[in-house]
Amino acid sequence: MGPPGAGKGTQAKRLAERFGMAHLSSGDIFRAEEASGSDLGAKLAEYMEAGQLVPDDIVVEVMARAIAGCDAPGLLLDGFPRTVPQAEALDAQLDRAGTPLDAVAVIGADDEAIVERITGRRSCPQCGRIYHVKFLLPENDELCDDCRVGLVQRDDDTEAVVRQRLEAYYEQTEPVIAYYHRRDRAKVLEIDGNGPPDEVTAALADAVTALGR
Ligand code: AMP
Repeated sequence: MGPPGAGKGTQAKRLAERFGMAHLSSGDIFRAEEASGSDLGAKLAEYMEAGQLVPDDIVVEVMARAIAGCDAPGLLLDGFPRTVPQAEALDAQLDRAGTPLDAVAVIGADDEAIVERITGRRSCPQCGRIYHVKFLLPENDELCDDCRVGLVQRDDDTEAVVRQRLEAYYEQTEPVIAYYHRRDRAKVLEIDGNGPPDEVTAALADAVTALGR
C-alpha cells in the first residue's frame, strides 16, 4: 500500500521476483481490461481518468476472480485493497481459502515528491516495467530495457489527476492501514519511500525476510 507514486508498482515487481511470488496489480488488471475494449474496461477507464477510485463492488469482483485464479505459492497484491470494504472482502475470501495475509507493507512518500515522480513516470506497454525521465532512465533512450518497446505515459499521470488521486488516497485508503493495525490480522510494515528505489527495495526485502516466512 501507499499513495500514488510512492513506488508500489516498481517495488512490488522487484519483491515478487526476489521472493518468488505472483504479482497482482489491480491497476494493471484494470488497464488490461480497458485495452481489451470490453464494456467493463470502458467503465473502469471513466473512473481511472478522473483519478477516482473504482466502486468497491466492481473492484472486489474483478480482484476475487484474479486471486482465485492464482496458484503460485505466494501472492503479492499491489493496489488492492484500497478501501475498508475491499479489505473486509479480501479477508473473507482469504479466510475461506485458509491463506490469510502475512503482512501489509505501507510505502510512505511526501506529496511534492509524489507529484514529481508521477508526472515523469513512463512504463513499458508490454511488460509493465516502470521508468522515470529523471530518476530511473532506461539504458536506451525511451525503450524498455527488456522488451525494446517504446515507453508510454499513463493517461492519469497528469498533475491535476495526481492531486485528485492523492485526495482519494488520504480519504479512502489511509483508513485501511488503521483497519489492519486494529484487527491485528497482519503485520504492518511501514517503509520510507522517499529515498532512491534501490534503498526502498532493500528496506522492504529486509522487512519481508524478518517475517521469517
Ligand atoms: P494504480 O495503477 O494502482 O495507480 O491504479 C490506477 C487507478 O485504478 C486508480 O487511480 C483507480 O482509479 C483504479 N484502481 C486501482 N486499484 C483500485 C482499487 N483497489 N480500488 C479502486 N480503484 C482502484
